[in-house]
Amino acid sequence: MSITVVGSVAFDAVKTPFGERERMLGGAATYFALAASFFDQVHVVGRVGDDFGEEDLGVVAARGTDVTDVERVPDGKTFFWAGEYGWDLNSRETLDTQLNVFQDFQPQLSPASRECDALFLANIQPELQLSVLEQCGETKFVAMDSMNFWIDSARDALIEVIRRVDCVVLNDAELRQLTGRPSIIAAAREVLGLGPSAVVAKQGEYGSALVTEDQFFSLPAFPLEKVIDPTGAGDTFAGGFVGFLARQLDRPLTEPVLRQAMAYGTALASFTVEEFGTERLQRMNGGEIDSRVEELRRITQFEHVAVPLETS
Ligand code: AMP
Repeated sequence: MSITVVGSVAFDAVKTPFGERERMLGGAATYFALAASFFDQVHVVGRVGDDFGEEDLGVVAARGTDVTDVERVPDGKTFFWAGEYGWDLNSRETLDTQLNVFQDFQPQLSPASRECDALFLANIQPELQLSVLEQCGETKFVAMDSMNFWIDSARDALIEVIRRVDCVVLNDAELRQLTGRPSIIAAAREVLGLGPSAVVAKQGEYGSALVTEDQFFSLPAFPLEKVIDPTGAGDTFAGGFVGFLARQLDRPLTEPVLRQAMAYGTALASFTVEEFGTERLQRMNGGEIDSRVEELRRITQFEHVAVPLETS
């Protein structure tokens, strides 16, 4: 199976209570690819400047990821994002966004990227997400992300994208903003009404919830005593989630498969937040991921203990 991801490949400056990095490799497509490449062949579609070195590209290309569609613009500067986290790491302030070469990004997919089995539309302008959908005709599974800025400024195009995908992955605040509904379940159900068959609500350190037509499932984040940098957790989650699902596309996506995909997304994201940027993701192995998935299974089970309750 192969997966195509379209989105930012970036340099980030990040400050957390545990330190800072002035310029580190980042971008939604980077985190997604590093996670999804544990499962399948990944094709990355993006745009960088000539300040983006071979070494950076080599990191994105880990585990055989195809970076042919990462266009390098001569004399251009790579997308740059700067953010700072509060002491509890839950609140994040964006300090700077420099679109640079990303400003005129018009994704052009090579035949290999178009012929993917699964597609992830990372957080980019909804009109560009639509153009990618038009280029990929026969994709079996399409998931998407977005952000507050597009919900505000390009709502109609965003709704059109949502109508055409199988799965929407948004954080809880974005789901509320999109639907105007305070309840995450009600918000997710409204989004399902537009067409997708699954909605994943990411809830940061509280984990994530999966809402389908007649089911609900929720997983906590993997319990960690020390989180260093949450940047990229959401995109890593998406990479693990879509990566696992893509391996199962020869049969119907049942609830158990979707739930296990949630566990893989959660386990992978837990590695990302343990160090700055992609540092931890770059030296991970499949065995470590599997053991965190097992641990998640263990901590989310509870036995039946009969306790008769008062009836009046
Ligand atoms: P996350 O922490 O999962 O929300 O993702 C963080 C990544 O998203 C960073 O590596 C940034 O480079 C990237 N990013 C931040 N803002 C944007 C934006 N407006 N468009 C695309 N990517 C972005």
